[in-house]
Amino acid sequence: MSLMAEPSASGRFGEFGGRFVPETLVPACQELEAAFVEAWADPSFRAELDDVLRTYAGRPSILTECTQLGAKLGLRLVLKREDLNHTGSHKINNVLGQALLAKRMGKKRLVAETGAGQHGVASATAAALLGMECKVYMGAVDVERQALNVFRMKLLGSEVEAVHSGSRTLKDAVNEAMRDWVATVETSHYCLGSVMGPHPYPWMVREFHRVIGQEARAQSIEMFGDVPDVVVACVGGGSNAIGIFSGFVDDRSRLVGVEPAGGAAVSRAQPGVVHGMRSYLMQDEYGQVQEAHSISAGLDYPGVGPEHSYLSSIGRAEYPNVTDAEVIKAFQLLARTEGIIPALESAHALAWIVRAAPELQGQTVMMNLSGRGDKDVAQMMDVLAL
Ligand SMILES: *Cc1c(COP(=O)(O)O)cnc(C)c1O
Repeated sequence: MSLMAEPSASGRFGEFGGRFVPETLVPACQELEAAFVEAWADPSFRAELDDVLRTYAGRPSILTECTQLGAKLGLRLVLKREDLNHTGSHKINNVLGQALLAKRMGKKRLVAETGAGQHGVASATAAALLGMECKVYMGAVDVERQALNVFRMKLLGSEVEAVHSGSRTLKDAVNEAMRDWVATVETSHYCLGSVMGPHPYPWMVREFHRVIGQEARAQSIEMFGDVPDVVVACVGGGSNAIGIFSGFVDDRSRLVGVEPAGGAAVSRAQPGVVHGMRSYLMQDEYGQVQEAHSISAGLDYPGVGPEHSYLSSIGRAEYPNVTDAEVIKAFQLLARTEGIIPALESAHALAWIVRAAPELQGQTVMMNLSGRGDKDVAQMMDVLAL
């Protein structure tokens, strides 16, 4: 049986996951679970999703071998180019899946949370494509930091609400989005942006990102005649990582999920409950959830998807972390040696590869390039004196 079989009926991956939500949210989660189970078993739903991924999102994404950087590091480095998807990252895979499911359920409105704005933009895009309404909750601090993405969402016809509670960042936006969902569940679907939250989200979002791993495995066999020795991805909530890991979890490939040093939930290995799930999360000595801090807003999440906690606990995947300084170097390195500007999130994965290169000599390394760096260029102008 695959290590990534379905979770238990209660949505558990080992001791992680579950559905820790108020009574009022239970029926909504149950309705969503039933609808997803039914749709995912229906070939016509799969065909509809495949079609929109191909003709709108631009799948399949290609593999690019980095011959110059690989030679420099002493290994064979290939990138899975999720940065080439429409809207610039892997996020569109999940959002199109959920939006089509919502439509099938008869919902007319999407609710979403966003931190840096990337998931909000993807949700607004899917809503525009499918003729749905969309409201995005975003911490007031992030609204200020990410003015360009706020404008993008509005341009796409979505409403953006600044959240002023708590620390006014992503974790507060998730709480507000859940509150909206409870109040409007007849007409609305909560389009959650990563493999986190209450069951069925971690499982459902993984299934929507499985396409990354399926393509990557077939492409790897074609390119190397084998699976890669190492598969590397950055981890915020963990959706792009779980997507590519899913293709190799039952193979011999070493799986590496790279967290920011300021948001290293897995390596601390302290389980807790947040946003409806039990998982490893950053908390202080009193069990209060701590703020994550990273140069990339997309990885500023104090928790991690429960399946990553599980894969770590059984030793199937490893979760090192890298510093902002290493990330900035990796960001420049890929731009200069290969002509590809990575998202700062994705640069975390490369930063680990650079650090680990001495022990990876001669190996084949596949990195998920989860997104493009256009969105980060203005921020890096303040950091790099070129
Ligand atoms: C949002 C985002 C991430 C982090 O989310 P995961 O769920 O951990 O994948 C990583 N890379 C990019 C480019 C993103 O936009």
